[in-house]
Amino acid sequence: MLARSAALLMATLCAAGACLAQAEAALAVTELAPGVFLHQGKVADWTPASSGDVANMGFVVGKRCVAVIDTGGTPALGRALRAAVARTTPLPVCWVINTHAHPDHLLGNGAFTTAGTDGAPAPQFVGHTRLLAALGARERYFRNALQRDFQFTPAPGDIVYPTVLVERRLELDLGQRVLQLDAWPTAHTDNDLTVYDPASRTLFLGDLLFADHIPVVDGSLKGWLAALVALRGFDVARAVPGHGAPATAWPAALGNQTRYLDTLLADTRKALADGQTLAQTVQRLGALPTSPWRLAETFHRRNITAAYAELEWE
Ligand SMILES: [Zn+2]
Repeated sequence: MLARSAALLMATLCAAGACLAQAEAALAVTELAPGVFLHQGKVADWTPASSGDVANMGFVVGKRCVAVIDTGGTPALGRALRAAVARTTPLPVCWVINTHAHPDHLLGNGAFTTAGTDGAPAPQFVGHTRLLAALGARERYFRNALQRDFQFTPAPGDIVYPTVLVERRLELDLGQRVLQLDAWPTAHTDNDLTVYDPASRTLFLGDLLFADHIPVVDGSLKGWLAALVALRGFDVARAVPGHGAPATAWPAALGNQTRYLDTLLADTRKALADGQTLAQTVQRLGALPTSPWRLAETFHRRNITAAYAELEWE
């Protein structure tokens, strides 16, 4: 894995006279592979205590332009990400890809709605076909949370809807670099999108993969386990989860999460077969899983509730 930082690259670019003046403080990013950059969010809740900086954000640089993959949990994070892109490369952002509709991944979108400083057109926003409805259902909550928790008053255009929709698969050409986007059946959510860069064999999984941060079921437990089986078929040199550290062992990177979700499925089915109520099931299975999972106290019992609701009528 290359460890060249964007700051080092900026110094090189500035020395070459190609540095763009940036008023915003740029996010720290790491170059995972040539042209593939990542800002790793904290393993923490999406709250002011973490500055909302909890989701991973990436970008991939082609010969013609840049694709951004998720924009972070606040408008300020989006601006800092755009500054990080600008100090890494003079190329414009042509695509902003949202991996799914959770606020920690896309509330920085508004930073990318304007044209580039060199007159390049504003980027297109890309998402799963069902991202539209999911955003529509949650926009009011997002606005309230930004106002109430982050003291940010969103403007009308700050919640940005996708203009390019992916029903199954879409290829995006960045100039001698083509990204493959896949829209998944309901798994972590009902609008999960993965981004694969064949040139570096990097797979951005959004929240189809959690590392360190306990997985959160907000779609379908059975669908997610099916997606994990299908994902094993990708040829991956590095996997980028939605939360936590990237991994190079594949498909071993899916192992911890698959075991957690498999256990949740089996234990919840057993509780249902034993005639347990929801409250009894949460009580029975509620002991918090330990290593490697963090934030289990926030999400584990909620996952049991989601699993119970899904499996109750099968
Ligand atoms: Zn998510």
